[in-house]
Amino acid sequence: MDEHIAPDACIFCRIVSKQAPAHVVHEDERVLVFLDIFPVADGHTLVIPKAHATNLLHTDEADLAAVIACSRRVAAAQRRVLDPDGIGVFQLNGAAAGQTVFHYHMHLIPRRQGDVLQVHSRTPGDPQRLAALADQLGGAMTAEG
Ligand code: 5GP
Ligand code: ZN
Repeated sequence: MDEHIAPDACIFCRIVSKQAPAHVVHEDERVLVFLDIFPVADGHTLVIPKAHATNLLHTDEADLAAVIACSRRVAAAQRRVLDPDGIGVFQLNGAAAGQTVFHYHMHLIPRRQGDVLQVHSRTPGDPQRLAALADQLGGAMTAEG
């Protein structure tokens, strides 16, 4: 499960370096938060370390700590903006586990009572909705500190 790739070939590194677009919610010196382009639910958000690492086993401990601390702030913003019934927080390690982008990332997925757990979607999010949500979630993160 060591799917190593060059940072140039990594779509998330390209988002970090602004070579590829994303609906960015928040960033600091260690982490970047942006909306999943194929959301499984409204507000599906990804938190990544800016430094490339393939998965949990390869990620620097300080980056892991930064990702989980930031994930809690994202969850608070999702609660404030979207008022979900629950929030799924998970990540996948290795293709056999379903990982498709080999740059460590945490998924934060707002859930509704009775909805069906979905890990991936093939339907792109509506760009206008993604842009509005990125603004709202980013604003809520700033407001909550
Ligand atoms: P994984 O399957 O590796 O846990 O999750 C990768 C996630 O990245 C998927 O949910 C997928 O929709 C998302 N994704 C893949 N390519 C892009 C992209 O170019 N931009 C954004 N924002 N999300 C992406
Ligand atoms: Zn990367």
